[in-house]
Amino acid sequence: MSIENTVGRWEKRWHPLRQEWVVYAAHRNSRPWTTGTTDQDTNLAPAYDPSCYLCPTNLRIHGDHNPDYKGVYIFDNDHPVVGLNAPDTEVFVHDFYQKGPATGIARVVCYDPRHNVTLSDVSPEVVNNVLSALQTETIRLSKIHPIKSVFVFENKGKECGVSNPHPHCQIYATDFVFRTVQTHLDAAKTYRLQSGKSIFGQILQSEIADQVRIIAENDQAVAFIPFFARYAYEVMIMPKNHHPTIMTLSSEEIKGLAEVYWQTIRKLDLNAGHTFPYVMSLMQSPTDQPDLDYWMYLHILPPYRAPGLLKYLGGPESNGGTFMADTMPEEKALELNRFSALV
Ligand SMILES: [Zn+2]
Repeated sequence: MSIENTVGRWEKRWHPLRQEWVVYAAHRNSRPWTTGTTDQDTNLAPAYDPSCYLCPTNLRIHGDHNPDYKGVYIFDNDHPVVGLNAPDTEVFVHDFYQKGPATGIARVVCYDPRHNVTLSDVSPEVVNNVLSALQTETIRLSKIHPIKSVFVFENKGKECGVSNPHPHCQIYATDFVFRTVQTHLDAAKTYRLQSGKSIFGQILQSEIADQVRIIAENDQAVAFIPFFARYAYEVMIMPKNHHPTIMTLSSEEIKGLAEVYWQTIRKLDLNAGHTFPYVMSLMQSPTDQPDLDYWMYLHILPPYRAPGLLKYLGGPESNGGTFMADTMPEEKALELNRFSALV
């Protein structure tokens, strides 16, 4: 391939939120590749699994039974990573290393009583119910001392390490702020000082102006593969109005966000030809003092270069901390938008 043919497919782009370069080398994407291919599990799970600890009425590890729930069901994680009863521990070790109690609240959010559905299989109304429940739960948790941050995430699919396929996400409410959110806040503060503008507002404005990376859009929200995406199918889903956390969205804005979220994950599934694994995170400002320069959004990170082809994190990503992308965001948006008429 001549150098001329690589224009627009071999370059680096600045990631404004992470304050780092992302290197794109899409011209290498046709190189031979024999590892990292995945076979999809074609076993169709039943709607109710008697051995699943998330299905309605089933027994959980500590002896509680789940209620016969019909919609969204939220409960305390039986295997918490953080807890309000985490053991007290000394703060300093020989005056240098620091430690402290793993304080927080870990919750599990079942989306639906059916064991064998995902959010893209259900109606947008169910997605709306899930986001509304996450809003209510964020508001509730934010009022509990000493919670500073409410982080919500879904690991979907075995490639993303999910321990149970029953549709669910988790909430970690903590007394510290998650690292990526802090990185975003630092970038937003620096940008505000330099330009007087919102860094998130600039991203939203630029994506709407460019149009070419938008995956779904309505009056309330927009989903796009960002100009600076590190993963091939990475999607940011932002409300069009500024909200530091999910706590202040109106019911109309939640509904619009849910529709765009649903359309996005439908396209990911249709493109893959099966349910597509991803990690979804609700990114939001610390809840104890919502920072006006943050802009809440849903972030979808599928660990794939192409359907069936996993993206491995090699030396540059794992140790170097800089992403080498094999695909261009604009080309991946085009790929997903082949299914626009179907969602
Ligand atoms: Zn289940």
